[in-house]
Amino acid sequence: MTLRVSARAKSWGRSFPVARFYNATENPATLAKVQRLVNGFAATIDSDDYWYPSLKASTACAAYTLDKILVGMLDACQFAGVRPALDVARRCVKGSIRYLPPRAYERFEAPKQAIYDEPYTLPENLFYAFEMTQEQEFRELAKKYLMDRTYFDPLSHGENVLPGLHAYSHVNSLCSAARAYLVLGQTKYFEAIRNAWDMIENTQSFASGGWAPNEEFVVPNKGLLGESLTKTHAHFETPCGSYAHFKLARYLLRFTGEARYGDGLERVLYNTILGAIDPQGDGHVFYYSDYHPSTQKAYMPDKWPCCSGTTPQVVADYAISTYLRSEDGIFVNLFTPSEVSWKVQGVPAKLIQTTTYPESDSSELRVELATPCEFTIYVRIPGWLRSPAQLAVNGQAISAAAEPRTFAAIHRRWQTNDTLQIHLPFSFRLQPIDDQHPNTVALMWGPLMLVALDPLLELPGKSIATSPEGITAAANSPLTFEVARAPGKLLFVPFYRVRDEVYTTYIQQKPA
Ligand SMILES: [Zn+2]
Repeated sequence: MTLRVSARAKSWGRSFPVARFYNATENPATLAKVQRLVNGFAATIDSDDYWYPSLKASTACAAYTLDKILVGMLDACQFAGVRPALDVARRCVKGSIRYLPPRAYERFEAPKQAIYDEPYTLPENLFYAFEMTQEQEFRELAKKYLMDRTYFDPLSHGENVLPGLHAYSHVNSLCSAARAYLVLGQTKYFEAIRNAWDMIENTQSFASGGWAPNEEFVVPNKGLLGESLTKTHAHFETPCGSYAHFKLARYLLRFTGEARYGDGLERVLYNTILGAIDPQGDGHVFYYSDYHPSTQKAYMPDKWPCCSGTTPQVVADYAISTYLRSEDGIFVNLFTPSEVSWKVQGVPAKLIQTTTYPESDSSELRVELATPCEFTIYVRIPGWLRSPAQLAVNGQAISAAAEPRTFAAIHRRWQTNDTLQIHLPFSFRLQPIDDQHPNTVALMWGPLMLVALDPLLELPGKSIATSPEGITAAANSPLTFEVARAPGKLLFVPFYRVRDEVYTTYIQQKPA
């Protein structure tokens, strides 16, 4: 199965946010800024194509810096139509060759001055350059940096080599394998990313969908996620991590059409990056999601960290995670107010989605078509559902199969102004942090991870899991829940709602 991302955006590199914002908004001032940035940067390149901002950049992080500049220039051309950017990209790659290592290496193998360089992330954007130019040099250079022996080969055989690895850069590197699968067609790269996704989801993830405390994958089945709650405040590198997670989820969605990857994308979207506090404009950004008891959200003390770049990147890409196209229709992956235009057998079609999800648990799609057309609308039915999804066309219930973790297929001859109503009943559930800490739980409401706005750490019995009556919705405040306790009551809100309040993500449940 091959799906295509449906917005105008058609590519998935680490993005140049301004070009992607232009693609999403078509604002002329944004386009002018892309042109200005490309021209300004081009003027700094020496006649021998040396472009690094400093000696340190070219010796300590030659690959890391190239990866960012390369995708910036490719995006400027691809998404903003700034053609000279492509030549700037060519010159940067040429000017980098003598500084790049001979192959991809892990941090422990790296030369002393370059232990934080990430040559294993290069192939994704080098393949992107190849796709845009069809120039073989890019393809060959991309192949050179595929980390097969220590990473993709074992992953493709189901061997879990993640523990101990730097998390974000290695998830980003999985996107290089995804691109290798697209360009080279070798199935081992697909198997590697599919297996790695399962390993991350099953053994590395918090209730939010975020992963890897202190930026490092843990050894599974040792209770290390549970132990990390009180040992660190650095539980998930949120902007970078969600950026890589979304790219990987979109690749897997495209390759398989399986809803589980959309579930994983939704979970990380609502519970991590949408919970980031706003960038300050002076380089201070939100960096780590913190699941320590009784904590507060905070900015990274250092200005302009990696996450100051990925924050706008991930935001610019929100739109391309919502819909995907197939030969026979359109896939609705996210429930969010939006519209998408495409063509059905040459007929212009539009889908307009109206919803307040996740404040409500329903959504409505309205079709606009020049003439009636037969096609399928695929709707993601989330895996977290505990009672059946309800679907209706023009207000009439329909009996399409709607199993959780699948896309329900609604095939018919659609006419303009037809509507599709989707109801996904939210319910409470408790998510233990790991098998070794079964009573350390996060409270979930549909797709949302709720946190306690109070440092109280114990919940009475197993009441929440078995009888949601113990929780009531607060009057006049959507998505605020109260749990009675003595004295007073405990308030729960989604992680993204928290600003300056002290909050606790995992609570101890007293065994009943
Ligand atoms: Zn980062």
